[in-house]
Amino acid sequence: MLLKVHDKINREYDTIVAGSGWAGMTAANKLGKEGHRVLLLEAHNKLGGLATWFKRASGEHIFDVSLHGFPVGMIKTCRRYWNKEISDKIHKLKSVRFLNPQYQLASDFTKEDFSRILVEHFKQTPETVTAFFDFLAQMNFYDASPMTNGELFQKFFPDRNDIVRFLLEPITYANGSTLEDPAITYGIVFCNFMSKGVYIFQGGTDTLIGMLREEMLNNNVDIRMQSKVSKIVIENGVVAGVMVKDEFIRAKSVLSNGNLISTIFDMTGSEHFSAEYVDAAKKVRLNTSSCQVYMGIKKGESIPFVGDLIFCSDDETFSTDGLLNPKVTSQTFSLYYPEMRPHLENRFAIVSSSNSRFSDWENLSEEQYCERKKYLIERALIGIEKVIPDIRRKIDFVEAATPLTVEYYTHHKRGASFGTKFEGLDVSMNMHKQIPGLFHSGSVGIIMSGWLGAANYGIIQAHEVNQFLYNKKEDGHHVNA
Ligand SMILES: Cc1cc2nc3c(=O)[nH]c(=O)nc-3n(C[C@H](O)[C@H](O)[C@H](O)COP(=O)(O)OP(=O)(O)OC[C@H]3O[C@@H](n4cnc5c(N)ncnc54)[C@H](O)[C@@H]3O)c2cc1C
Repeated sequence: MLLKVHDKINREYDTIVAGSGWAGMTAANKLGKEGHRVLLLEAHNKLGGLATWFKRASGEHIFDVSLHGFPVGMIKTCRRYWNKEISDKIHKLKSVRFLNPQYQLASDFTKEDFSRILVEHFKQTPETVTAFFDFLAQMNFYDASPMTNGELFQKFFPDRNDIVRFLLEPITYANGSTLEDPAITYGIVFCNFMSKGVYIFQGGTDTLIGMLREEMLNNNVDIRMQSKVSKIVIENGVVAGVMVKDEFIRAKSVLSNGNLISTIFDMTGSEHFSAEYVDAAKKVRLNTSSCQVYMGIKKGESIPFVGDLIFCSDDETFSTDGLLNPKVTSQTFSLYYPEMRPHLENRFAIVSSSNSRFSDWENLSEEQYCERKKYLIERALIGIEKVIPDIRRKIDFVEAATPLTVEYYTHHKRGASFGTKFEGLDVSMNMHKQIPGLFHSGSVGIIMSGWLGAANYGIIQAHEVNQFLYNKKEDGHHVNA
């Protein structure tokens, strides 16, 4: 049931899911389908979290924030845990382009095509390329290998900054990976993409979220928006429910889809966890944030097909640290053609994304902030002009988002776009071992980020919740017997 903001809730739920990002919604849907009484509480007035969209100019323009591409695995995840109608709307992108001073290439982003480019363009032997892909394929999460991305590339393509750029830049955009991050985080995500290329949801994020909402309601999930969970209530060491302002809602378990650090320190309180766990949580590093520029094309105008995703940069060489600098030119353009929203009349849009640091945007004066936003917009226009020279006259709407915007709308500390670094995964997965009934799911550990990672992690944690509720019921039976 879709509850209204002021609807008071008196019943006890089996699970309260706090947050409606991909992980929260997928977990809520699975638990609802399994017959549990589920309440999904979302702080914002929209479902989706970072999977969001917005309209401007009286609905004339519509922009997707994080619908740029995900691996083919999303089809299976949506079919299994959502429904066929949703998975049937997932389509492959036709062309991914790379434009920078080191190379100009186009690919369908598959292992076959990347292997061809590594041999033909980057002059690597087929044996080296095969050995690289074989090495990635055998990488295993449970091996806990200390190898970093930098070491991985040095092993197969020593001192080849151009190849590192080709292989790593798209994944740095997909999950914030750097050369210092564990190679496993790159290996898993890169292989997921390489299996069949890059996919997108046709219909736009607005259509998708509408379909997800319907499916959750069909599975008896109660949903209430504009309901920020301020506190997770712990009684005698176990979860008792949540507070939304001064309203207490009782539940046997709580799954937080909020930021991992906020869940531990703000929503729950460190006093409820062991000192060792709190220590580990304090060491979790947040991932970086993003800037975006949204460009709307005038009604009646059109743009030619120039690719779906364009990784574009004027920087001579590549460094993952440099990518975060507000002055670098590296950005990814997502081009949305009319096929993206066939139900709308011939509309085009372009979104430029770049990774960035919260610290470069906080503590600016209003004037400095506006100046920097202007620079961001100009940089995007200059970048896309290289691909479509007359684009400026076709654009009648431009707006920029910064890490401060991401933090404002998602409550993610420091506007983290991809959750936490690798060490966050352990802390998130072990939360329920600290406090019976308390679970976390959402972008963590790089691997579990992005639409696919977050949705799959929602399923993993829903399974844990299910097990907890089952055991609780069994214990109840024993007590009664
Ligand atoms: C600019 C940008 C571009 C991206 N592009 C892509 C892409 O192309 N492909 C891809 O796969 N991924 C992309 N991502 C990443 C992807 O969007 C995220 O990893 C994923 O959507 C995160 O899902 P999540 O489950 O962690 O929840 P989030 O999306 O982080 O949502 C969490 C939700 O919880 C709510 N919440 C938080 N605290 C509370 C509380 N106390 N009470 C109630 N509600 C609360 C928030 O309001 C939010 O709705 C992008 C991210 C960004 C920022």
